[in-house]
Amino acid sequence: MKVFLASANAKKILEMQRILAEHVPDIEVLGIGDIDGYVEPVEDEPTFEGNALLKARAGVAATGLPSIADDSGLCVDALNGMPGVLSARWSGPPKSDDRNNELLLAQLHDVPDERRGAHFACAVAWVLPDGRERVVEGRMDGHIIREVRGSGGFGYDVVFVAVEHAAEGLTSAELEPGEKDLISHRGRALRELAPQVAADLASD
Ligand code: IMP
Repeated sequence: MKVFLASANAKKILEMQRILAEHVPDIEVLGIGDIDGYVEPVEDEPTFEGNALLKARAGVAATGLPSIADDSGLCVDALNGMPGVLSARWSGPPKSDDRNNELLLAQLHDVPDERRGAHFACAVAWVLPDGRERVVEGRMDGHIIREVRGSGGFGYDVVFVAVEHAAEGLTSAELEPGEKDLISHRGRALRELAPQVAADLASD
């Protein structure tokens, strides 16, 4: 039950492995770090779906294994949906979550509380060596706060409060991993895809 997960982000791989393993208990996940000399493709598609497919197809081509890839990002209402597909590199190279968050908070400095809505979006692509493909999408709605808070998760979790936790004002970085999985864009998409992954692997 080996699959390739086309990501080099250790925290993202952990999240995805945790969610998939609930539905496909004997799954063995290999990441980019497990494949010698793996060259990541340039993510130059304008949509999450396009980039997820491009990454999963490259994974199949390089490993010959059924491959999963996600592409995700934060879409901020007051920034017309940006950073979107540019989330990882919002403040320029080299990639830095801290600088991305600093820049986002500065950009939203004058935006009043009632206009700080945002959502995380995620597309997960599943590509099999015989060419079958499926893409599922998920989202998590919430708002951007005015300072960084919490030490869990990754990326923009420290500035994002999901609607489900608005009453307590807890950021996604202050949630237990399982609590985030329950409501997260990635959790929702992966839970929708998991039965298909289980069925395809079982019929192999
Ligand atoms: P990707 O690796 O190209 O999909 O980039 C995703 C980027 O979006 C990450 O580097 C984060 O900046 C942001 N992102 C996606 N999902 C999350 C999440 O669950 N929490 C926080 N930030 C996220």
